[in-house]
Amino acid sequence: MRKTLYLKFILAYILFAFFGFFTVATFVSRLTYEYCLRQTSRELYHEATRIADTYAVDLYNSDISLETVQNQMESLSYFMDTEIWIINPSGRLIVNSADAPDPEKEVIVERFDPTVTQKNYYTRGKFFDSFEEDRLSVLAPIINNYKTRGYVIIHKSAAQIDENANSMLNISYMMLIVILLLSLIILIFFTEFVYKPLRKIIEATEQYASGNMHYELPVEGEDEMGYLAASLGYMAKTMATFEDDQKKFIANVSHDFRSPLTSIRGFLEAMLDGTIPPEMHEHYLGVVLNETDRLTKLTNSLLTLNNLNTKGMLLQMTDWNINDVIRKVAASFEQVCLRKEIRIRLILSGEILYVHADEEKIQQVLYNLVDNAIKFSSRQSEIEIETTEKGGKVFVSVRDNGIGIPKDDQNQIWERFYKSDHSRGKDKKGTGLGLSIVREIIRAHGENISLVSTPGAGSKFTFTLKRSELNDELDDDDPMYKDIIQDII
Ligand code: ADP
Repeated sequence: MRKTLYLKFILAYILFAFFGFFTVATFVSRLTYEYCLRQTSRELYHEATRIADTYAVDLYNSDISLETVQNQMESLSYFMDTEIWIINPSGRLIVNSADAPDPEKEVIVERFDPTVTQKNYYTRGKFFDSFEEDRLSVLAPIINNYKTRGYVIIHKSAAQIDENANSMLNISYMMLIVILLLSLIILIFFTEFVYKPLRKIIEATEQYASGNMHYELPVEGEDEMGYLAASLGYMAKTMATFEDDQKKFIANVSHDFRSPLTSIRGFLEAMLDGTIPPEMHEHYLGVVLNETDRLTKLTNSLLTLNNLNTKGMLLQMTDWNINDVIRKVAASFEQVCLRKEIRIRLILSGEILYVHADEEKIQQVLYNLVDNAIKFSSRQSEIEIETTEKGGKVFVSVRDNGIGIPKDDQNQIWERFYKSDHSRGKDKKGTGLGLSIVREIIRAHGENISLVSTPGAGSKFTFTLKRSELNDELDDDDPMYKDIIQDII
């Protein structure tokens, strides 16, 4: 099976060679022979008409002796390697360059018929049984006083013409052999640059299929094969890291579930065996409740992430007022903010700013970002949520004056379960899934989210959304649509 492609190429090459030889042996050979025949007969005819118009006419007009013509024809035929006849319409031979006719003895070509050439001026054959072997015979009429007095006939050995045609055909064969040898180069190129790399790629795919994702693919180069090999290698590497990621993910999930469960179990056991006195039960039940809250949050986040991944493209895209949603999200944090004395300031581009997006999911994004901003802000600080419009996009940013994110962590915070060491002390309940969810949602919308953060000074998360065309129908002069700054809490 594996050798099929190579065998096909070899077979194609053999077929090419076979048909090449077949064509030369049949078609080209016939064409060459016909070409030689026509070419020779044209030359002979030219010579025959010249003789008919000069020596032969002179002979019939008795301007020249038969002997002179005979001698001339003999030398001419010697040079041309032919046999020249002058013959009467009745078939009586008058001049024969090969054998001077005896004037006493009439030599007649039996059944001589000048129409033997049919439409042509030449014929091939034994010329009315005058020769043992085939001849090419060319006839030119001798016309004197508008009458055909006879014919000049030049005979040439057909074997000689065949020989000429054969030597021309040999050139065709030589050419064909050269072409076949040259096309061998193509076959060698194909083997080196296509077939061999392909074999290596197939071998690598077999290795990957059998689970050896770390197999190194030894194909290099700038061409399509190199690109294919590189893509395949990249795919294998991605799958290998995917496998590792999956193991890490399960380890993380198990760990995050186990620690609250262990602590719940510990407190409940301590309550049951009396280590925790009954008057402290209420306090520890509160702690247990807190832990169950954490488990619920973790489960919900995992479900959200899973749903986003499996049907991430299924967004309910509608046009809605982002400024209104921001106000609602901010208001939902009122109690937490009051406790931490945090102020949320909204800098919104008017009362109404329509975006085209999935409202529920963007609300989740806002919720996660504001939740983080509050979590990582110190008491009595301020959080700013801002909306602006630019080039068909709506920019939404959530800024805090909190602990900030170290440069080295800024790329990793988007990964699942990532919590910077820095923040661990501040947020024991965090799952490390919030920003992964945010990124998945923004990506599903085909939009971007960016982060600017300075440790100790604060962080600013900014994401884009598609601006809705409904905004164009709003009246810009209405005070409702002017920028507003509002301290919501
Ligand atoms: P978590 O549920 O732990 O907040 P996230 O995915 O939302 O998970 O955040 C991941 C990590 O990113 C957090 O643990 C924290 O280290 C860092 N982070 C996120 N938002 C902020 C912020 N506003 N200020 C400082 N650190 C932040």
